[in-house]
Amino acid sequence: MTLAEKLAKERRARLAAERLLEHKQRELFAANEKLALHARALSNQIVEQRQVVRSALSEAEALKGQNSRFLTDLDRAHTAAVMAERRLWDSVETIRDGFAVFDTSLKLVAANHAYLAVFAGHPEIAPGIGYEAILRLCWEKKLVEVGDAGLEEWIATMLGRWDQDPIPPVVVRFFNGQYVKLIDRRARDGDMVTLALNITETIAREAALREAQERAEAANRAKSAFLANMSHEIRTPMNGVVGMAELLCDTTLTEEQRLYAETIKTSGEALLVIINDVLDYSKIEAEKIVLHPEPFDLERCIHDIVMLMQPSVQEKGVDLLIDFDIFLPTRFVGDPGRIRQVLTNLIGNAVKFTDHGQVLVRVVGFEADPGLQELHVSIEDTGIGIAAEHLDHIFGEFNQVDDQWDRKFEGTGLGLAISRRLIEHMGGTIWVDSVAGQGSCFGFEVVLPVAEDVGADPAAPIALHRALVVDDQLTNRRILQRQLETYGLEVITCRSGAEALAAVAEGPAFDVVLTDHNMPDMDGVQLAHRLRQAGQTVPILLLSSHPGPVREDAAARADLAAILQKPVLRRDLFHRLQSLSAPMPPAPVAALPPVPVPERRAMRVLAAEDNRTNQLVFRKMTKDLDIDLVFAGNGLEALDLHASFAPDLIFMDISMPEMDGRAAARAIRAAEVATGAHVPIVALTAHAMEGDAEGILAAGIDYYLTKPLRRSAITEQIVALCPQGARPVLPRTEAETEAA
Ligand code: ADP
Repeated sequence: MTLAEKLAKERRARLAAERLLEHKQRELFAANEKLALHARALSNQIVEQRQVVRSALSEAEALKGQNSRFLTDLDRAHTAAVMAERRLWDSVETIRDGFAVFDTSLKLVAANHAYLAVFAGHPEIAPGIGYEAILRLCWEKKLVEVGDAGLEEWIATMLGRWDQDPIPPVVVRFFNGQYVKLIDRRARDGDMVTLALNITETIAREAALREAQERAEAANRAKSAFLANMSHEIRTPMNGVVGMAELLCDTTLTEEQRLYAETIKTSGEALLVIINDVLDYSKIEAEKIVLHPEPFDLERCIHDIVMLMQPSVQEKGVDLLIDFDIFLPTRFVGDPGRIRQVLTNLIGNAVKFTDHGQVLVRVVGFEADPGLQELHVSIEDTGIGIAAEHLDHIFGEFNQVDDQWDRKFEGTGLGLAISRRLIEHMGGTIWVDSVAGQGSCFGFEVVLPVAEDVGADPAAPIALHRALVVDDQLTNRRILQRQLETYGLEVITCRSGAEALAAVAEGPAFDVVLTDHNMPDMDGVQLAHRLRQAGQTVPILLLSSHPGPVREDAAARADLAAILQKPVLRRDLFHRLQSLSAPMPPAPVAALPPVPVPERRAMRVLAAEDNRTNQLVFRKMTKDLDIDLVFAGNGLEALDLHASFAPDLIFMDISMPEMDGRAAARAIRAAEVATGAHVPIVALTAHAMEGDAEGILAAGIDYYLTKPLRRSAITEQIVALCPQGARPVLPRTEAETEAA
């Protein structure tokens, strides 16, 4: 190879190497380029990664803080939950009754000590045990009384309760005598909550209450029976008193005797009204009182009551005064029985609780509306009074101020309660003011219509001008002065006989002297005598609470124009003053001679009545009737006499020994079935209890009369039932005889 060739070859080799180098350089450059790009990308990635890591780190930091807060909160919440649960159970433990919770599978979740205490000695009764197992243990160990129920039956009954909605409570008695009332409720999540209330005390209290109620009812029944008996026992003799008084009033009597007889009669009737009212107390309690308004004289009513009380106040030396407002009408429309009952109670109490001084009944009033008077009646006494602490309940039932103290005084403690109810029923009010040791003032206010005054005082004025009133009591002087002044008299008052003698001596002359009887130093009779000795002819009226002895003393009577019983009715005083200037009325015409009776048999009347006095009253009340009267002493005798005497009419007392009126009437009706006859039977009964009328009429009795017997009612019945074949029972009048 030539050099050239060699040089050419080398050059070619060099050129090839240079191209390769160039190529490699390009490749290197490209590789560098790529590497640079990659490196840049990597570095960007690293920056990004760093940022991510940084934010992740800060987030983690934040989360870490949060987490620890959550942990604290959780811890707190846990503590609170534990405390709440403990508190709840502490509270549940404080309950003296049992408390338990069962889950939906009837397993005991929790129970307080009270619940578990009844199972002491049975440690298996603890949370986790089933309800049925508890029931089973109770039955098997005889922890509860289950009666005759078998185990399965009892468990079924007790479990069955829990299926009901609402679950009925049940009372179980434990072996130790404790009564437990189980009250179960289902909670929202299905748990069963049981409350076991210990009601042993309640049961014992209920039993005691029941027993007390039974005792009270028995006592009440005894009271009713007592009232019924009392009604009879009091009414029977009162019937005699009132009947005899009525008969007495029909005889010829002096004025004084008539006053006494009429007072006995009206007072007896008042007493019967009171008995009825006491019997009616249950009615009043039930607010079923019915008032029977009718015209009545209030002043007369008060006067009658005062007259009834007069003997007892006289014994004590207490003055019983009436101050009836002179400008007030006396006749009103109201229920006189009820008003009398209230007044009798209030005046009676005042008299009962006053040993010295006076009892003043004051009536004032004013016209509330045309024809309507608002009446204020007060009863003031100077008696023992009532302590302030008793005043509030004085109008309650059976309220006697002090048992010990009251033992001295009789009374039911019902009077004021009845009075209050009655007055309230009349639309009025009743009140009391009292100072212990000084006296009491009871009062009531009612509005009553004014009644037409049928027996109004004649308008004729009194022909007297100057009156002298002598009384040691200021109240009396005032009352009399006011009364006399309204009659147009000029009145001078004196406190004693000596003052009166001086006043008369001084002149001018008096037309009338009204003097009290009982005065210290010189009494009314002595004063009259001294006036007469001094040559005074002035009419002297003696006002006396106890006029009997003076009326019997001829010498005293000679000095006096009249002796008036205190308190004096306004009307009586008025008439007396009028009569002092008027001529005496003519003597009453003598009774007519008896009329001959026509020929026919007398009506046969049988009266069955066991009480001798009432027999006598009946005989006397029918004495003017032309009848053939026979008495039977009891129902058996009445039955015999019905057969042997063949009465046209039978009066039948209801309460009789051996056979009572009802039984006798039934027997008579039974005997009549064979003959077809029917004798009228009129019941006479002392019973005021309601329902009697129906019972009596059911026994075959035709008519019904309540005692006290009244002559007019008996006569009416006999006349109405007089048979055709008998003589008329009433004696004919002179006119009828002449006409015949
Ligand atoms: P009683 O039938 O016991 O009198 P009341 O209801 O009428 O029943 O009276 C109840 C009680 O009120 C009396 O027992 C008495 O303690 C007291 N009382 C009533 N009126 C008076 C009075 N005028 N003065 C003092 N105490 C009175």
